[in-house]
Amino acid sequence: MDPLGHRITDKRDDLVALTQDLIRIPTLNPPGENYAAICDFLKARLEPRGFAVTLVRAEGAPGDSDRYPRWNLVARRDGTRPGECVHFNSHTDVVEVGHGWTRDPFGGDLDEGRIYGRGACDMKGGLAASIIAVEAFLEEHPDFAGAIEISGTADEESGGYGGVAYLAEQGWFDPARVQHVIIPEPLNKDRICLGHRGGWWAEIETRGEIAHGSMPFLGDCAVRHMGAVLQAFEDKLFPAMAARHTEMPVVPDGARQSTMNINAIHGGQPEYGPDFTGLPAHCVPDSCRITIDRRFLIEEGLDATQAEIVALLDELKATRPRFDYEIREINRVIPSMTDRDAPVVTTVTQAIRDVLGRDPEYVASPGSYDQKHIDRIGKLKNCIAYGPGVLELAHKPDEWVGVDDMLDSARVMARSLQALLLP
Ligand SMILES: [Zn+2]
Repeated sequence: MDPLGHRITDKRDDLVALTQDLIRIPTLNPPGENYAAICDFLKARLEPRGFAVTLVRAEGAPGDSDRYPRWNLVARRDGTRPGECVHFNSHTDVVEVGHGWTRDPFGGDLDEGRIYGRGACDMKGGLAASIIAVEAFLEEHPDFAGAIEISGTADEESGGYGGVAYLAEQGWFDPARVQHVIIPEPLNKDRICLGHRGGWWAEIETRGEIAHGSMPFLGDCAVRHMGAVLQAFEDKLFPAMAARHTEMPVVPDGARQSTMNINAIHGGQPEYGPDFTGLPAHCVPDSCRITIDRRFLIEEGLDATQAEIVALLDELKATRPRFDYEIREINRVIPSMTDRDAPVVTTVTQAIRDVLGRDPEYVASPGSYDQKHIDRIGKLKNCIAYGPGVLELAHKPDEWVGVDDMLDSARVMARSLQALLLP
């Protein structure tokens, strides 16, 4: 192994302790707990190592309040001569704990080479690995060109609007100041994630007319109208989506086509709690709503995705007596796909070959992550996700990250820095 690789091996205990320390700060989102605490922790770590640290609160972003401020950290260390800037971006938030844990979710237990905890894999292990990689590189090569940045950002798990989106709007990902971005999300140490599909979330409501349930012909049942919508989806939309495949290497295979989930349905009178012992009233429902989660392909685009659903609803309006609807967008995410020949891709590819002795697998994410904001708002295309951890463990009980995997991916990251910053 090369000197830099050995230097990372020597930092094993430091890496374990750093990962444990990060897990022990419970940055639950929602609501967005302890963002200030984790930023202060990272600042205390990085400032003594020569980083200029800026703390940025996403004032006015969704969720930002004095009780739950959206704090972000950007740390920058400039080299001894001009060159390019490599930026490691990690989100600091973790999702709720959920049920089924056999370990303390904020304990950071180390057991047989695995560190357990909420966020261990998604993605405090990746954050810790990138810090160790950068520190080892700086010790080995104090004389380097360009700059290194490390950011810890809020709210990725809730869309990133109080995190990377806010920083991108403020110019932090301007291609004039940052040239390469690596997001150490848990995609496995030998895979490079080039991007993600798009998403469109909307609420569809059908309308009816209330009447007595014994004389439904005097009203108009909104739930039956919604049944017609669902039938149209089954007959036309789902088969059409299943026939569309993307050139993007989305994993798992099932996500290499268009998909749609119906998140929720509700029609008629509200559901009363278990304390309510009465009987329901007899009414024809005058409203029914569904929430859809439509994941679309880069080849489809957002406009066509929306138009396809609206056309189905309009067709019902034209053919089904008394049918009427409203559709309201909840959120949208554009697909993002970094070119296979982009410099950060070819650099990390070679680093994986050097460190692991094999070619990487190129993948794309079925969901999305903060690359969308760096791409769309920041206008920076040279961005990938690369980091340790098994994606399938994310958000699960007894989430863990392997110490050896973190060390390997830290070696890949450090080697990538050598390639980019030692011209
Ligand atoms: Zn994540």
